[in-house]
Amino acid sequence: MLRIKKNDIVKVLAGKDKGKTGKVITVIADKNRVIVQGINFNKKHAKKRRQDQQGGIIQKEGPLDMSNVAVMCKKCNLATKIGVDILQDGSKIRFCKKCKETIE
Ligand SMILES: [Zn+2]
Repeated sequence: MLRIKKNDIVKVLAGKDKGKTGKVITVIADKNRVIVQGINFNKKHAKKRRQDQQGGIIQKEGPLDMSNVAVMCKKCNLATKIGVDILQDGSKIRFCKKCKETIE
């Protein structure tokens, strides 16, 4: 089970956006990467392919390594370590290792 899911609010732990928080908009599970809204913007120069297209600079979020972000616990209001528990019925839940609160 992945410790980070889409729509999680995460805090960036490393890199140029260290300390910022944002919402996970994409999880790239097989590469252990996430894309976080507004974080790790990369500027790209767009080429004009056709006459009616606009060239210029496009800003797009780049992927971050999952190890460089931490999920925010709503109860602690802190970036926290996530634990995974298996319930008796076999379903898995995530919880905050600090306060033990379940994280949806
Ligand atoms: Zn907590």
